[in-house]
Amino acid sequence: MAHRTDLFDVGALRLSSGEGRRLELDVPVDGFDFGGQRYSIPGGQVAAILDVAHTTSGYALRLRFQTALVGPCMRCLEPAGHEVEVDAREIDQPGGGEELSSPYLEADELDLKAWARDALALALPTQIVCREDCLGLCAVCGEDLNEAGPDHAHEHEPDPRWAALRELKLD
Ligand SMILES: [Zn+2]
Ligand SMILES: [Zn+2]
Repeated sequence: MAHRTDLFDVGALRLSSGEGRRLELDVPVDGFDFGGQRYSIPGGQVAAILDVAHTTSGYALRLRFQTALVGPCMRCLEPAGHEVEVDAREIDQPGGGEELSSPYLEADELDLKAWARDALALALPTQIVCREDCLGLCAVCGEDLNEAGPDHAHEHEPDPRWAALRELKLD
C-alpha cells in the first residue's frame, strides 16, 4: 500500500551521492478551475512514482503519474473524462543559484502536493473536450449540436446593413 503523502522527507532516505530510490506514493491533488469549469481528481489523489537521486551535492527528482479529470467538456458541458499524463523533473543543488534550486524542496522536505498540482496544471491541454470533434452547443438556442444533427439551423434575421445597401440605387 502506498502512503498518502503531502510532504516527503528526502533526507530520511539517507542516500549517499550517486544513490537513488524509486517510491510509489499517493499524492493528494485538489480540484481546480480551468476555462471557467470545475475539474476534480478521482479520489482526490494520484498514484505517483517518485524517483529521488542524490547527486554530488543535491538531488535530482522525477515525478510521474497519470490521472483522469472529472468535469465537463468545455464545448458541450457533457462529462469529458479526460486523461492527463504528467512527467516532471526538478533539480536541487545547494549553491547552484536560482536555476538549480527547486521551489518544492525546502531543507530536504519535498512539497509533493504543490509539485503535483503545478505539474498537472502544466500538462493540461488548451481545452478539455469530450472528443476532438465535439460540435458544442448551438450559439442561438443552446442545444447540444452533437445530438441535434446536421440539419439544426435557425432562420437568420436579415442583417440591417444589407437592408440599407438594398435601398442604394447603383447606376
Ligand atoms: Zn463535448
Ligand atoms: Zn439552435
